[in-house]
Amino acid sequence: MSDTLAPVKPGKLIINGEAVDAASGATFTTMNPATEQPVTTVAEAGAEDVDRAVRAARAALEGPWRKMRPADRARALHKLGDLILANADEIARLETLDNGKPIFESRQIDIGMVAGCFHYFSGWATKLTGDTVPVNPAFFTYTLREPVGVVGAIIPWNFPMIMVGWKCGPALAAGNTIVLKPAELTPLTAIRIGELAMEAGLPPGVLNVLPGKGSVAGEAIVKHPGVDKVSFTGSTEVGRHLMKTAADGLKKVTLELGGKSPNIVFADADLEAAMRGATTGIFYGKGEVCAAGSRLLVQRSIYDEFVGKLAERAKKMVPSDPLDPKSRLGALVSEKQMKSVLGYVETGVKEGAQLVAGGQRQPVDGKGWFVQATVLAGVDNRMRVAQEEIFGPVLAVIPFEDEADAIAQANDVPYGLASGVWTQDVKKAHRVASRLHAGTVWVNTYNFYDPAMPFGGMKASGFGRDLGAASLDEYSQVKSVWIQME
Ligand code: NDP
Repeated sequence: MSDTLAPVKPGKLIINGEAVDAASGATFTTMNPATEQPVTTVAEAGAEDVDRAVRAARAALEGPWRKMRPADRARALHKLGDLILANADEIARLETLDNGKPIFESRQIDIGMVAGCFHYFSGWATKLTGDTVPVNPAFFTYTLREPVGVVGAIIPWNFPMIMVGWKCGPALAAGNTIVLKPAELTPLTAIRIGELAMEAGLPPGVLNVLPGKGSVAGEAIVKHPGVDKVSFTGSTEVGRHLMKTAADGLKKVTLELGGKSPNIVFADADLEAAMRGATTGIFYGKGEVCAAGSRLLVQRSIYDEFVGKLAERAKKMVPSDPLDPKSRLGALVSEKQMKSVLGYVETGVKEGAQLVAGGQRQPVDGKGWFVQATVLAGVDNRMRVAQEEIFGPVLAVIPFEDEADAIAQANDVPYGLASGVWTQDVKKAHRVASRLHAGTVWVNTYNFYDPAMPFGGMKASGFGRDLGAASLDEYSQVKSVWIQME
């Protein structure tokens, strides 16, 4: 492995503008999935730390953050975006060491997205307006758009730094304060961005970062009476549990919960482009991507030829050292995740699917939780590998007959996060896009995101939206004011 650079300093909690140890003194070790070696130790937040952070967030909300002119809030958020760009190499390296994803993705894609979120949402801080409403000349009636309050944000390990931007950008632009819990497996970039937030001039307590266990720090955040809203990205199972817990406090909830997204290739598509889209749709991010195009639906008339070429392409995508700029397939985030993914491959084969590429663990330099780019062909949409989120580099390829069959199979899963359509028939593209049960439809492309474009799910993929103007509704509320004029 090529990482001979500086050791990573131990991570602390960020509470009230200070990097501190946990009240209990507890720490945990974060591991490098590519080498199976420790990266560093990190302070482990408990309920007492959560309480301190929530109090700090409340004080900032009622005090300096509320009193700050929106233009100054905007400037601080924009500066945070600038500081992320200025420290891009360091942050990208931390992400790759912690998560195992190729440095190409951390440095060339993720950094731009997280900085872009702070830049884009900084512009909204000065543009969240209410209305004057013509009710009756006897009254002056208007609405105010106000923050929800203290936001508890709980984020996953697959896009650790991007999720900081997705949650904090709109929440802070709308005037909320935050207690953020990164995933235990990947806490380092959230901590680093929390440090940069202090440098950018965010008042103490506005952005608190609490690495720790979901079952301890995460639970404490969701249960804390001082938290007004819970914003979560992760598994459907935990999302369901958090919603029930949040119901006791009648907290607002936003859930973004994975998927089993159909990527549909019609026979009339530009097949070379569709092949590229099918490959990046599943193997980008090692397939640990909520919107991964993990079910490839291919029209029967081109199925055999398409699958043959796809398998050849997948076999050339060999796992490699994530710190090598040429790497395009890194290590899965943990041994547990690797075993779960390999278990699904076995399940698929037992269910009758044909393994036409990959399917094995493939260590690099004898180490690491790497899994080959895997293609299962001849999959029936009722099989478990077609219905359940595998969250790894495993593609299930399913044949379909015609447009109606493609739509029916595409929608026949519990999830509804994303989808892809490949066709040169523009009318068909619009027809299919309108019928898919998915929060995002990509036509003749896959896996594109922008801070301005809303993202979120339907059905078991959750509700509410990250990104875009729509996300600001999740983090603000409307107050009506009536003034008697006569
Ligand atoms: P989880 O849903 O468990 O983790 C997501 C976040 O929730 C983490 O920060 C986690 O903390 C936290 N969390 C876990 N339990 C609780 C709780 N009781 N209260 C509050 N917070 C909690 O995902 P997993 O890591 O277990 O991944 C399992 C599967 O979930 C994956 O294989 C994949 O299918 C799916 N997934 C989907 C994601 C998406 O983007 N939609 C992202 C990640 C996973 P901690 O890290 O300490 O557990």
